[in-house]
Amino acid sequence: MARRTARPRQRASAAARPPPAVPAGCPCGLPAAYEACCGRYHAGTEAAPGAEALMRSRYSAFVRGDVGYLLRTWHPRTRPERLELDPGMRWTGLEILGTADGSAFHTTGTVEFRASYRGGALHERSRFERVAGAWVYVDGEFPEGSA
Ligand SMILES: [Zn+2]
Repeated sequence: MARRTARPRQRASAAARPPPAVPAGCPCGLPAAYEACCGRYHAGTEAAPGAEALMRSRYSAFVRGDVGYLLRTWHPRTRPERLELDPGMRWTGLEILGTADGSAFHTTGTVEFRASYRGGALHERSRFERVAGAWVYVDGEFPEGSA
């Protein structure tokens, strides 16, 4: 009796699959390519110009697992010693619900957002401050009756 039990594998032909309809934009949800959007901030070539841009770039950093960026955009006062991301977490989208201040003319700002992940969503109102000119994340509160 033949000992070979392995059958030739049926491989789905990649060519038969339709290409994605739209080129993926930035993970933060904006249509621009990652490199032209949050990627600039992650690379350190530019600093996020406002609280919302920083919020978006931090969400993208969560999506991409960029712990270094998350830590360096965290206020020194509230920054954790270290940060471990759950590798099983699958972020699926960011929705900005509202902003207050956080522009070039402010030193503080808040951004309320809903970040969705597989199995749930995080609704947070984050506070941001400028430290030596650069926007950083301070902390967040969780509006009641939300998510
Ligand atoms: Zn982006």
